[in-house]
Amino acid sequence: MTPSRQTLTIIVPVLNEAASLGELAARLRSAMAAIDVTWDVVFIDDGSTDLTLEGLRTLNAGDARFKAISLSRNFGKERAIAAGLAYATGDAAVLIDADLQHPPEVIGEFVNEWRKGYDIVYGQRLDRKTDGPIRRRLAQLYYHIFKALSRTTLPPGAGDFRLLSRRAVTAMNRLGERERFNKGLYSWIGFPSVGVPYRVAERKSGTAKWSPRKLLHFALDGIFSFSTVPLRLSSILGVLISVGAFAYGLWFLVYTLLYGIDRPGFPSLIISIMFLSGIQLISLGVVGEYLGRVYEEVKARPLYLVAEEVGLTGRPQEAGVGPVHVPPNGGGPP
Ligand code: UDP
Ligand code: MG
Repeated sequence: MTPSRQTLTIIVPVLNEAASLGELAARLRSAMAAIDVTWDVVFIDDGSTDLTLEGLRTLNAGDARFKAISLSRNFGKERAIAAGLAYATGDAAVLIDADLQHPPEVIGEFVNEWRKGYDIVYGQRLDRKTDGPIRRRLAQLYYHIFKALSRTTLPPGAGDFRLLSRRAVTAMNRLGERERFNKGLYSWIGFPSVGVPYRVAERKSGTAKWSPRKLLHFALDGIFSFSTVPLRLSSILGVLISVGAFAYGLWFLVYTLLYGIDRPGFPSLIISIMFLSGIQLISLGVVGEYLGRVYEEVKARPLYLVAEEVGLTGRPQEAGVGPVHVPPNGGGPP
């Protein structure tokens, strides 16, 4: 049975994007009018502190196709996307940023590829001109490291701007991990995928929501959730150093037997102690990174909590693991 390819849910994570909403809605409307699909939009208000939620309510009052859920606090874009995927009802879902850096007009091309049978159609940025030179270099370096350490391959230039078929959405919804690195997860689930090139626009209004600290966390999450090579590195390093120490010991023994003890050897002692302590602490830190993540996972807290639903009722289509959805009245007495 071929799956139906008629309805589309557009998922937009928003954090303090009140200034972008009007233009985004207008651009989406005109872009979608040119495509032969039935569509709706699910905004995920990721704990905004400005007038975003009011803006979303107004949008919904004017056009019921614009729906929203509001999370109880800022859970981060990765989890906001997870929430959107759980609430999406379409035969496919499109993820798009609110700041119009992802041109809505490209969705038409996504739909064409989807109807050819692809499950994942990702937007492939033609360049990183909108990023500064330092961020661009760091991104490049990061993807090299990721490639070297992980068996999951990330297509170059692909981000969150993409279409996922219903079965890809279902697959994403079944991944229960808390430390989510969506870029890796999209590749991990597999399915036929294809890229559609697009040019990233400048942010229309508001400011970028990624601080250097958030970006660093995001980058580390990516590596630690898709590779265990760092753990293996400390074993390898340990073996190498032990072999070296053993060889040095042998050499020293022979030397002493032949020439007697003639060297004070203080500096070498201090240096090797410091060197080894450094390695031990680093290894401990690496183990700690994984342990911390294991701890996060075993606590099995929900990925996010929903504080309010706008134009949407009831449960998400497919919940991820655990009770991801708390009813707006908290499930208590009415
Ligand atoms: N965003 C979010 N939660 C966050 C950070 C960002 O929902 O904690 C949203 C944001 O409102 C925007 C999208 O994710 O719609 C991309 O964010 P931004 O434009 O700041 O990042 P960049 O363009 O640098 O990737
Ligand atoms: Mg942006």
